Amino acid sequence: MGFDPQQQDPPGLTGEMKPRPDHGEKSYRGSGRLEGQRALITGGDSGIGRAVAIAYAREGADVAISYLPSEETDAREVAELVEAEGRRVVLLPGDLRDEETCRSVVADAASGLGGLDVLVNNAGFQMARRESFEDVTTDDLDRVMKTNLYALVWVTQAALEHLSSGASIINVSSIQAYQPSTSLMDYAATKAAINNMTVNLAAELGPRGIRVNAVAPGPIWTPLQPATQPPEKLEKFGEDTPLGRAGQPAECASAFVFLASPHEASYVSATVLGVTGGKPVF
Ligand code: NAD
Ligand code: MG
Repeated sequence: MGFDPQQQDPPGLTGEMKPRPDHGEKSYRGSGRLEGQRALITGGDSGIGRAVAIAYAREGADVAISYLPSEETDAREVAELVEAEGRRVVLLPGDLRDEETCRSVVADAASGLGGLDVLVNNAGFQMARRESFEDVTTDDLDRVMKTNLYALVWVTQAALEHLSSGASIINVSSIQAYQPSTSLMDYAATKAAINNMTVNLAAELGPRGIRVNAVAPGPIWTPLQPATQPPEKLEKFGEDTPLGRAGQPAECASAFVFLASPHEASYVSATVLGVTGGKPVF
């Protein structure tokens, strides 16, 4: 039920994965649930972010995606998929560990889309190729904290210049916030912090009519896994969930559609929606 051992260097590319993940290319059917919305999805080139970009476009939204410059081939595939739905796409390469880049990515998303209604803070990094806590290097620590937490703060601050009443922010948490793995000590801590910040931001932004929620995925087959897990771990990836398998990015998309919908989720804020194959998120 797992995957063949395979390894890539971070951030990893979709085309090199065996099998290729399912982002809903053939299966996702839209029904106008996000008509006219303008969404920025960080890390929207691949994995969960790509599935969200496809679903949002099919629901009637225009999308901007940010990604690392080395992921240009993945980003162009997403651009084709979004444009095939007749929606606008804005491509924003840049390393979000840099504050100025975060601010210019958001500014370019807003000018390219003519405004912003939905922010999906999805970009993330982990490193699990390590034996023990003593193996956590300062470089890893910086990369994990800056990508998962600093960038989320900088991108959200910049986005708030454009988000108004009815808008929403969706952060990407993880099952690791609830059931942390020792090999992901630092990453798990960032995801617990993201949950905490989601609740607190929802409290601050509620009076402005802006909802803030999170999605907590379980094990999902994305480039992050072959790029950061020891190859042999992939053979059993996801088998420890009650559903007994890893999830596909496509299986995460509807949660993001629901939380973004100003109609269906109009009274939903400060919640974490689990897409975990049965592991509890409370
Ligand atoms: P992914 O590798 O496809 O997506 C992560 C994206 O983050 C990359 O494509 C990249 O564009 C972006 N990114 C990373 N570092 C960046 C940087 N410095 N600057 C700009 N962009 C950067 O993998 P994914 O699994 O789809 O990850 C999406 C989110 O889901 C992450 O926040 C991850 O922590 C979370 N998540 C994944 C799983 C899983 O099992 N795959 C489980 C729980 C949570
Ligand atoms: Mg990618």
